[in-house]
Amino acid sequence: MEHRYFSSAPGFQGKHSARKFEMPTPQLALKHLKLGNKRFVASSSIHHQMHNSRRRHFLYHQRPFAMVLCCSDSRVPAEIIFDCSLGDLFVVRTAGHALDASVLGTIEFGVEVLNVPLLVVLGHENCGAVAAAILTYNQDRNTRVEKHGRTAIESILEGIYPAIQQCGSTEPQAVMEANVLNTARMVMELPSVRSGLETGKLRIAQAAYSLKSGVVRFLAE
Ligand SMILES: [Zn+2]
Repeated sequence: MEHRYFSSAPGFQGKHSARKFEMPTPQLALKHLKLGNKRFVASSSIHHQMHNSRRRHFLYHQRPFAMVLCCSDSRVPAEIIFDCSLGDLFVVRTAGHALDASVLGTIEFGVEVLNVPLLVVLGHENCGAVAAAILTYNQDRNTRVEKHGRTAIESILEGIYPAIQQCGSTEPQAVMEANVLNTARMVMELPSVRSGLETGKLRIAQAAYSLKSGVVRFLAE
């Protein structure tokens, strides 16, 4: 049987061997994610069962067609909410999709080595990291650090404070969306990302996930 396991995306499976595989365009990759989310919302996901042959097919290579940078929240697993399969997505997850050198390096790897055509920065409703940033925004940081010590969580909160400042509000949804925008902007400063965007080989989309409805709403694409 000819493998159709280089990607599970309906638009680009079937005829090619893994060796001949070409990355989909950013547009096609985005379309596939949107269709996957529609299936998830409609409770008609097709990737909840994984055949061993797919795992074996990807023993020595990977060909993810999209990267997702999202929160570590257990309710926001990218593969499930986009109804994708093993080998489809290159995912980076940190609380509040906080950025640091390792996260940026991982994204660079996705762009430069894996040639992934699409990166989605995905925030979500009821994000604990966003809520904590809102809660602590007006606190005196020095007093807090004196009291609790400088924890690693502090750097996550500090990454979200500019979003509160920019949107001039402590409304969680607004802060979350501003934080998505900020994160996307910072990722775009990576030279490899910038050149991918310039040549049209890479696209960055910003999105927000609703826990209530399961819908991924694209804020910018
Ligand atoms: Zn979160």
